[in-house]
Amino acid sequence: MGIPTPTTKFVYSFGGGKADGNESMKNLLGGKGANLAEMAGHPNLLLPVPPGFTITTAVCTYYYDHGRTYPNELKTQVNQALEEVEQLVGKKFGDEKDPLLVSVRSGARRSMPGMMETVLNIGLTEKTIEGLIAQTNNPRFAYDAYRRLIMMYADVVMEKAGGIEPKNGKGIRKVLDEKLEHVKHQRGYSNDTELTVDELKKLVVDFKETIKTNLGQPFPEDPMEQLWGSVSAVFASWNGKRAFEYRRIEKIPDEWGTAVNVQAMVFGNMGDDSATGVAFTRNPGTGENQFYGEFLVNAQGEDVVAGIRTPAPVNEYSKNDQSRHLPSLEQLMPSLYQELDGYQKRLEGHYKDMQDIEFTIEKGKLYMLQCRVGKRNGVAAVRMAAEMFEEGLIDSDTALMRVAPTQLVELLLPMVDPKEELVHAPIAKGLPAGPGGAKGRVVFTSIDAVEWAAKGEKVILVREETSPEDVDGMHKSQAILTTKGGMTSHAALVARGWGKCCIVGCNEIHIADDHKSFRAKDGTVVHEGEWITLNGTKGLVYNGEMKLTSIDLNLNQSYSKLMELVNQTKTLHVRANADTPKDAKQAIAFGAEGIGLFRTEHMFYGEGSDDPLFRLRKMIVSKTEDERRHALDELYTFVKKDIKSTLEVMDGFPVTIRLLDPPLHEFVPHDKDKLQQLAKELGIRMSVLKRRVLELHENNPMLGHRGVRLGVSYPEITVTQVRAILSAAAELILDGKKPFPEIMIPVTCTVNELRHQKALVDKVYEGAKAHFGLDEIPFMYGTMIEIPRAALKANHMAEVAEFFSFGTNDLTQMSFGFSRDDIGGFLPIYLDQKLLHDDPFQTIDQEGVGELIRIGIDRGRSTRPELEVGICGEHGGDPESVKFCHRIGMNYVSCSPFRVPIARLAAAQAAIESKAKN
Ligand code: ADP
Ligand code: MG
Ligand code: MG
Repeated sequence: MGIPTPTTKFVYSFGGGKADGNESMKNLLGGKGANLAEMAGHPNLLLPVPPGFTITTAVCTYYYDHGRTYPNELKTQVNQALEEVEQLVGKKFGDEKDPLLVSVRSGARRSMPGMMETVLNIGLTEKTIEGLIAQTNNPRFAYDAYRRLIMMYADVVMEKAGGIEPKNGKGIRKVLDEKLEHVKHQRGYSNDTELTVDELKKLVVDFKETIKTNLGQPFPEDPMEQLWGSVSAVFASWNGKRAFEYRRIEKIPDEWGTAVNVQAMVFGNMGDDSATGVAFTRNPGTGENQFYGEFLVNAQGEDVVAGIRTPAPVNEYSKNDQSRHLPSLEQLMPSLYQELDGYQKRLEGHYKDMQDIEFTIEKGKLYMLQCRVGKRNGVAAVRMAAEMFEEGLIDSDTALMRVAPTQLVELLLPMVDPKEELVHAPIAKGLPAGPGGAKGRVVFTSIDAVEWAAKGEKVILVREETSPEDVDGMHKSQAILTTKGGMTSHAALVARGWGKCCIVGCNEIHIADDHKSFRAKDGTVVHEGEWITLNGTKGLVYNGEMKLTSIDLNLNQSYSKLMELVNQTKTLHVRANADTPKDAKQAIAFGAEGIGLFRTEHMFYGEGSDDPLFRLRKMIVSKTEDERRHALDELYTFVKKDIKSTLEVMDGFPVTIRLLDPPLHEFVPHDKDKLQQLAKELGIRMSVLKRRVLELHENNPMLGHRGVRLGVSYPEITVTQVRAILSAAAELILDGKKPFPEIMIPVTCTVNELRHQKALVDKVYEGAKAHFGLDEIPFMYGTMIEIPRAALKANHMAEVAEFFSFGTNDLTQMSFGFSRDDIGGFLPIYLDQKLLHDDPFQTIDQEGVGELIRIGIDRGRSTRPELEVGICGEHGGDPESVKFCHRIGMNYVSCSPFRVPIARLAAAQAAIESKAKN
């Protein structure tokens, strides 16, 4: 008794110039529902949206929490909302004289293109169809709508949601589709639109019988049953296999749930004065500020996206090689085009971002069916952000937040080497749906793509068209090539979201029936497993494997503009891990402000390493200090030259040089020739040499005789390196340069190690100053913090160290006790079973390792407030980790040169985010 508790609002209406919800309610209404409400009800917009209502995501949560049932109030609320729609449209749902038809549309918080289900034309039955025919005088249209409903309903509601999908992949939709194709084939039609009323009628009868036989139950002839069946199917589709996989890739939480939108149908399939289309307020492939879109006359819903006919361009700008001959919407229906153009401008101005819109024209009247922030590739994202800022549409912070740091990778994407393109002729041309270049071996199924990729193969997925079932394989492929479909097809949409190289609508190739090869127009046959190369920027397909190169970022004006904003915003410095003058130059070109990790041992690996490596080996197998000194003296020249060349490139920037880090035995030769040469040089017998090598063996080298421990047991190793560093710097100073080396001691765990090494450094320093006649050779002395104990004792470490660089690779290894080199055996299982959310070697474990870092910084700065703190290692280029480093007050992050732009943008975003917090 008492005051009745207010019932929860589960249903939000929109239409008729008003709406219960708005754009800010995405969590409750899903993206689609919130935007429908905004378009219909916001005073700036008031667009012609067919009326409808949204059942909230809270109902989805309830549904899964309560054994797939609904809250009690839902039915009444739905009936009420449906009545409002009926009033606005002037038709009644289920009415046999003038039936209202509705669509049931899914809509999660974040768009998941094509992942979940939509059912159109709900409310059509044997009885109501007569009313629809009488009202429209268009039986062909009515039966076209009916056959679509039956097919969608059988597929989405009866089969998929019913959990009776056949394992062989040949579901009911495919069975029914084949029947349709069969009739078309028999009659020699190429388009659905050519089917006559009688043919459609027969198909409907056939469809229904097939459904009954194959699925064991009849297609429901009760409009209400259709409605609720569809609503449940949408909720069920949230946990469908495809949606589940997509969420895993896109990291969308499973708990979010979907909303369901029920909306009055409008018909793009009522004849030649009707149409349906998809458009973007700016070109999503390039970012250019041009209205861009495609449409189909006399078509419904997914027809454009499914690529069953070549879509026509909305305007001249949108024409491509496949659609050039087709009249544009602007030409065909000029005043409707003007109206649409007005709406798209209004939408972009209102949302202040590029919008992806769906529209339908029913008998000369335009309706808006959807808008959302449009997906775009990295190239387009950068251009849009920079241009919208320059147009004054958005401010600097917004522009910087618009680009995901990892999207910058796409600007560095490989391109097909232009020199090779001059001498190779493409075998086919399609539509350029995803820019960049890619090469790989051809596979024809998504399953193969996944399997081959797991074996380390680079593959390109070649298909007639893709469907949501293919996402996993698409993800694992280097690139995607489809023979059908337009610029708004599934493949194009998905590839665009991922920034993947993609060519669609390439009708110049034909895939063989056995799906083992394809034949290009010029007669070239490419078999499964053979290499092809794609230029996704131009839509060109090449036979064979071609060279890929990268482009010069700084020529991209939008990128330069964006990076200018980055530099004005970020406070965290970004350095690069680089060991050669070449890498150092690259790093500077990418905007690095120094080197955070220069590894002295790099000179013993790879090209040109023979000579220094030989001398290092001599040093390693030396027995006496004399022998070792002699070898080190020989080595000195190499080390100095090597360091000097990089210091010279980094003129004016700090360069953190880490003294020799790996365990010595890593450098010992194992082949007989090399050993013999070494023995000869040292003047010792092979047996003696072998014994010395054997003595170097360690059971656990990662925790063995390495890093500072080498410098402690063989001080001459430290002395030689420091002498090389300071001499290189001194020589550059005398040349008028401004070198700034930071000498970094690796793998320390106690301040005593630092003191021990510092005494050596001081001695060398005095000697160098005297030798070069300089009053000062500026440098810093510091350490890596990569052992947990060093982080805990950071207050002591900072008594000697002027800087810390957190070596998060080793720190992670030693904090978790996970061997970096052996995680393959168990980490995938940990991730799969969600014992760990991320690979801690890729993204800093903020809770555990992060706490050690925080402690290290706090304690270090308590001793030495001006302590310089940075991070080196893979994490320095991971956006989340960069943001973490900003928050805990580091001075810089250091990452590989190619990640520098990413880290810079992440640093700017971190600054914006902390500003917003305060
Ligand atoms: P998705 O989330 O896959 O984009 P939608 O719910 O947008 O699915 O619907 C699929 C297609 O059906 C779209 O092309 C949409 O425009 C069309 N559609 C949905 N509802 C209606 C409607 N009430 N009238 C006409 N077309 C509709
Ligand atoms: Mg859908
Ligand atoms: Mg849609």
